[in-house]
Amino acid sequence: MVKKGKKREESSDLEIESLLEAYKTFLSERQLKFTEQRKVIITEFVKSGGHLSAEDLFRIVKKKASNVGLASVYRTINSLVDAGLAEERHFLDKTSVYEIHKPGDHHDHLICLKCKKIFEFENEAIEDQQKKVAEGLGFALKKHKLELYGWCQRSNCPNY
Ligand SMILES: [Zn+2]
Ligand SMILES: [Zn+2]
Repeated sequence: MVKKGKKREESSDLEIESLLEAYKTFLSERQLKFTEQRKVIITEFVKSGGHLSAEDLFRIVKKKASNVGLASVYRTINSLVDAGLAEERHFLDKTSVYEIHKPGDHHDHLICLKCKKIFEFENEAIEDQQKKVAEGLGFALKKHKLELYGWCQRSNCPNY
């Protein structure tokens, strides 16, 4: 099933709250300070829907808070990854892109080779099969990344 953008929007306020709470806990356990800048960065990150590079996020954040620097965006994203609240991905090139990681949530990706748009999906049958394959080879599966590449069928996809 492909997730729709609308669902994301409706839940984004709640998502931001719970993410900020988890992040504050992580920071306070390490005697690190939660700052207003970090709040803006994380809020825009959640609102964006993810799959963004640090530079992409920096461009968005700068419109809301011109005092935020690229280094702060990098630091905040890296600490979110350390906290297990964001995940780093590499799709079409070496650029790192990031997305929020919600506890217990898992999805895989479809990437359009023409327009570079990233789609998300969840499929239980695939998940089960992967576990079986791993078990069959004597693996206790801890994580996986599944990326499918192809041509999307959206009418506004270039070259379609
Ligand atoms: Zn496309
Ligand atoms: Zn994703």
